[in-house]
Formats: sequence, C-alpha cells, structure tokens
Amino acid sequence: MVFIQVAVPVPLRQLFTYSHTDTLQPGVRVKVPFGPRQLVGIVVESGVDIDDTSKIKAIIEVVDSAPVIDESLRKMAHWLWQYYHHAPGEVIHAMLPVPLRKGEPATPSPAQYIQVTPEGADTDVKSLSRAPKQMSCLKAVQTTSIIASEARKHFSPAVVKALLDKALIELVDITPELTAQAWLDTFEIGEKPVPDKEQGVAIAALNQQHGTFAISLLEGVTGSGKTEVYLQSIEPLLKAGKQVLILVPEIGLTPQTVSRFEKRFNIPVGVLHSQLTDAARLSVWQRARAGELGIIIGTRSAIFTPLKNPGMIIVDEEHDESFKQQDGLRYHARDLAAMRAKEHSIPLLLGSATPALETLNNALNGRFAHLQLTRRAAGAQSTKQYLLDARDQPIHYGISEGLLTIMRQHVNAGNQILVFVNRRGYAPALLCHHCGTTAMCKRCDRPYTVHKGQNRLQCHHCGATRSMPKECEACHSHEMVTAGTGTEQVEEGLMKLFPDAKHVRIDSDTVRGKDKLHQTLDAINRQEHQILVGTQILSKGHHFPHVTLVVVLDCDGALFSADFRAPEKLAQLVTQLAGRAGRASKPGEMWLQTHNPHHPLLQDLVNNGYAHFARHALMERKASALPPYISQFVIRAEATESSSAYAFLQQARGVLSNSNTANANSKGLVPQMSGPFPCLIEKRQGRFRFMLVCSHEKRAPLHNALRLALPYLQGLPQAAKVRWSVDIDPTDFS
Ligand code: ADP
Ligand code: ZN
Ligand code: ZN
Repeated sequence: MVFIQVAVPVPLRQLFTYSHTDTLQPGVRVKVPFGPRQLVGIVVESGVDIDDTSKIKAIIEVVDSAPVIDESLRKMAHWLWQYYHHAPGEVIHAMLPVPLRKGEPATPSPAQYIQVTPEGADTDVKSLSRAPKQMSCLKAVQTTSIIASEARKHFSPAVVKALLDKALIELVDITPELTAQAWLDTFEIGEKPVPDKEQGVAIAALNQQHGTFAISLLEGVTGSGKTEVYLQSIEPLLKAGKQVLILVPEIGLTPQTVSRFEKRFNIPVGVLHSQLTDAARLSVWQRARAGELGIIIGTRSAIFTPLKNPGMIIVDEEHDESFKQQDGLRYHARDLAAMRAKEHSIPLLLGSATPALETLNNALNGRFAHLQLTRRAAGAQSTKQYLLDARDQPIHYGISEGLLTIMRQHVNAGNQILVFVNRRGYAPALLCHHCGTTAMCKRCDRPYTVHKGQNRLQCHHCGATRSMPKECEACHSHEMVTAGTGTEQVEEGLMKLFPDAKHVRIDSDTVRGKDKLHQTLDAINRQEHQILVGTQILSKGHHFPHVTLVVVLDCDGALFSADFRAPEKLAQLVTQLAGRAGRASKPGEMWLQTHNPHHPLLQDLVNNGYAHFARHALMERKASALPPYISQFVIRAEATESSSAYAFLQQARGVLSNSNTANANSKGLVPQMSGPFPCLIEKRQGRFRFMLVCSHEKRAPLHNALRLALPYLQGLPQAAKVRWSVDIDPTDFS
C-alpha cells in the first residue's frame, strides 16, 4: 500500500492523503472519495509516510496514464498556493481546462469534423458570392477541417447543412494527430518594415536573451511599433521551433491582432479567451502542450497553457487591470509570467505605453532590462494634450461651451471625434425635485443608474434592475430629475447639438459580445460614424486613424479618490485614449475637461506626458511608503450584518498582532495594519464589506506572519458567519 498526497478541489488550504496499490506519478488525475462525493484530484506526491493509517481511504480510479500537468506547471502550482495562501486543489483546478477538471480525457478524442469533398476543393468560393456565409465557411474548410459543432456555432447550422446538401463538404470522424513544431511546414516570413533605430536596439537586446531567463520592459509610446518589436524578436525563435505565449487584455484580443501574427509568419495562431467553448479551449491546450502551435495568444488564464518547447512569453499592455484576477484565486498573470519564464529559462517581455508603477520601478532599479521607444512609428505625430477649464461655463449635456466650439471645428472639417465618458447609462442618479430623495438600491445602499432607453433603473454594483418609478418614494411627488451624466445622455445631447453627424455609442449596453464590438469598430474605421461616445472600451487597443479629437468629459472624480492607485489609473486611461487618435497622416489633439485646471497631476500629465508623470508618482509612493516600495495584503470580510464583518476583522487584527503568533516567526513580526474599515463600495448585494490592510517593507516576513496567522483566523468565532478572503498584492480596493 502506498500513501499518496492529492490536491482535491475544495476550499481548504491543505492536501489530502489517500492510499493506492502502486506509486503514482505527480500530475496524474485521480478520482477520490470526499465525504459523500467523488472528486477529481491531482497527485502531488507519492509514497508519503503517515502515522495513523486507519482513516485513509483508497483512490477510486486513476484517470491518466501520464501526468496532465508537467513539472514546470506543478512547480508553478506549488508557488501559487504558497504565495497566494490558497487552497491547492482550487489552484490546480484553475489551471486546467474545464473538461479536464471533470475527468475527461486529456488527449484528443475522435470528433466529428467537416472537410471538403473533392468537388468542394475544386470549387471557386466566388461562385457562392450570393451566399456570403456559405462562401466563408467553404473557404475556411478548404484550408483545414473544422470540428462540426464549432462550424455550426460559428457559421450557423443552416450554412453547414446547405454545403452538405451541395456535397461540397462532408462529415468525418477524425482523431486529431498532434505534431510538435507543425507550424514549420508553412512558416515563412512575410513582408516587414525595416525597424527604426530604437526598435533595432530593442530587437537586438531581446535576441541576446534567447535561452536565458530575463525580464524586459518595452516602454513605448502608443503607436511606436511595440507589436513590430514583438514580431521581429520572436521570428528567430519560431524559426528554431520554439513556442511563444502572448498575453493580452481581454478587450485587446481582436481578430486584427491575431491575423497580424498569422499573416507575418503564415502559421495558425492558437487563441484563448473567455468566450470560447470548453471544447475549443481544450483543443488549444492540447495543441500547445503537444508543441503543435508556434504562437498562442490569450487573456489572463492563458498563462496556464502548457508548452512543449517554450521560447518566450510576452505580456502586452502589461499595466492592464484585467491581468489581475479579482475573485477566487486572486493571481496576477504578470507575476506568474515571470515565474514561468524563470522556470523555463526563457525571456519575458512586458510591453506598454503606460507601464504599471510596479513594473517601471523594476526597470528603473535595474532588475528588468529597460527598452524604450519614444517616437511613433512611420512618422505619425503624437496627440497634443490640453486642459479645458470648465469653471463658470455653460454646460450642455455635460459638455462645456468652450469644448463644444472645439468639437464643432473638427466635425465641420469632416473628421471623427471621440468623446470619453466614465459611466454608462443616462445618469448616475435619479432624485426627487421636491424633497431630494434619491432612488437607491437597497441591497447596495447606492443610487440606481438611470437607463432611459430601457426606461429602467439599474444598480451598477449588483446588476439589479427595476422599472422607472413614477413618483418619489418619500413624498410621492411626481417630479423626478436626473443628476450627473452618462454615455446615454451625452449621446442624446450630441444628437441635438450635431444633428447632421452620425453617432455611435460604445459601452457594454450597446455592444454586447465580441462580434458586435468588432463590427462597430470596423464600421468606425470605414467612417460610417463621425462622433464616437463611449466608456473605457474605447481606450484599449483599437486604432482610430480618422479620429483627430479626443475629449474626456470628466476627470475630476479620480483626482479625489480614496484609492492611492486612482491617479495612476487616470494617467494610464488618458494616455491610452490619446493614443487612439492621430495615427495616420492626421495629427490629433486631446482636451480634458476639468474644474481643477491647476491640479498638479493634470498639469504634469498634460505638459510632460505619462513617462514623466509615472516617475514622479513613484517618488511620491516612496515618500508615502506605498507599493511598490512596501508589500501588502488585504483581508476582506463580507456579511449581511455589518457588525459581524467588522468584528471578524477586529479579531483578525488581534491574531496578527498577537505576540504568540508573531513570536513563532523568527523575526517576531507584526505587520503594520490599517482598518478594519469599509471597502470603497461599502455594501453590495445586501452584504456589508470591510477590509483590513496589512503592510510591511519586506515581503517574506509579511507572508510568514500571514501563514502563521491563517490557522487561527480559520478558527475565529466569527469566521463561520462571514465570507472572508485574502488578497495578496491587492490592486483594487473597491
Ligand atoms: P504599437 O504596438 O506600439 O501600438 P505597432 O507595432 O502597431 O505599434 O505600430 C504602429 C503602426 O506603425 C503599425 O501600422 C505598424 O505596421 C507601423 N510600424 C511599426 N514599425 C514600423 C517601422 N519600423 N516602419 C514603418 N512602419 C512601422
Ligand atoms: Zn420626494
Ligand atoms: Zn445593488
């Protein structure tokens, strides 16, 4: 009998021991009994010694003959559960595609595919030009067979049926054969520009790093040709049969990005994002693991993709907040990328026009190589930025008179303008004109947002909606008025102010789903719209070559936020927005409307740019002893009774400052603690939310203190009454 440690997917910070007749390889999946249930766990260690074997249960079934998680990913899993103080079984589950979590086979199983018939192969797709969907389906199948269910989903069942009826395609059962370095069959280097001097320096530096662990920051202004540096620096790696993993923000994963890589090298690119089916994700996982795919582009969780011949990892727009998971296993994909690169002895490249202060600090202190691109590529000019003093000006729909004059000039010249508004909906509050009572979401104690188009109120914290009230709850007056401005209202206003210009609104209400977003963006670049109104979505990754004016209607909120990261986030947003315009031959300008035109942050940003702002902001962080100069973790607690959440964190504070717990630590460290205090969003979905922020200048002793405290926290009398969690290196205090 062998005793085996298994990571079982339950929220407990421990491994579980089971027995089996033979030793098992680490990384193999097993079915184990857990209470009344049967769960799929992963073998962590075989042949452990235990004292009391009486209660040990036997493994029910061994799922795999070979490990599904290789050694490097197992090391990463181990690091994850140590560093984030998270349950090992949950960590390993998070790393696996969903079908594998359920115990389905890890190697490709036969699936129904559509493939071309000889007749279909000879058919000129243009003969189907009257049925464009059939045409694009046939065109796709002519290059490669496609899983039938995927084809039906992508093109529609009717399209697939029509082509089957015409005998241009047929259904076959295929077990995909995966071949390492399969991309080398078609690999060829497409047309590419000659790098400019700065790009050349960056590419040469990166070429030196092949086969070694190194981290570089590529700090390049928007449009400076960062992607071109990625392309040219991965070229020799792909040619040598090495794989490249590229992480991008959720919203930056556009078909254009993918096709740019596909076209340059004439190879298929594996794509991983949240809207794929489980089967499609599994397929990319399998192909990457077998070494079949040369390039894998994906969002946050793609960092868990297994690679047979890793050559390099790239994190594009590394400052983007979507790389940090904000619930469950709260990992940062950028940090994991560094772990993986180290493990594989390969370079990691972090690219951004607006690097996170953490990253910039590491580049400035020499821990990361610092590569810079200071000019836009191909002679494009950078966007000039100005502040617009809105004080004492008449305001129409959130737009001041002065700003309107500038907007008119650009619209009359036939150019596109982009209007950024930080909230969606019509107005962020509805209130009674008579008594002032605001319509509130009772579960969050926050005003409802007015959505005029739907004639409803919606809470942006919990998503709850209700019909538009006809009268005030408090005094029954019928005169209800809105306060503040959202995208919907700005759009309505612009339609009145610019009746002849075509408008489009881009926020999560108008563009649901990726396809709709991409269609809208394409229409914008075909100049079907002249005035673009939208939220954050507009700031990320999309190029609008015809936009000559970008306006930000309100940047004052961020100037007075309680979140110490708010200025950094504002500066990144503004800089990224500015980067959307003035790409082509048309120079662009940007106006920030504010009631605080002398605010030092805005002045610095507008006059000196992000790079200068960020270096200055780092000095301020240092002076105020804030990250990245110190380490932090946050304990959060939520409960329906505000007193329970508060009391739990009070007790937690007691544990962390208790000399007994602290003395067990060689340094006797008590972290600096602030709180408990309410989160920025104090109540959500009927639960009160509090947090306790713990900091120390050194990471290791801080983590040690937490490790020692955790068993005591689990045993606290209030622990069962609250939902609590630990967030290491928190980035969001909402
Ligand atoms: P970024 O990733 O920094 O936003 P891109 O790599 O997308 O920048 O480059 C912006 C534009 O400039 C693209 O159209 C790209 O093809 C072009 N470009 C990049 N580098 C060069 C170069 N050295 N010569 C000419 N055009 C270039
Ligand atoms: Zn009232
Ligand atoms: Zn709510």
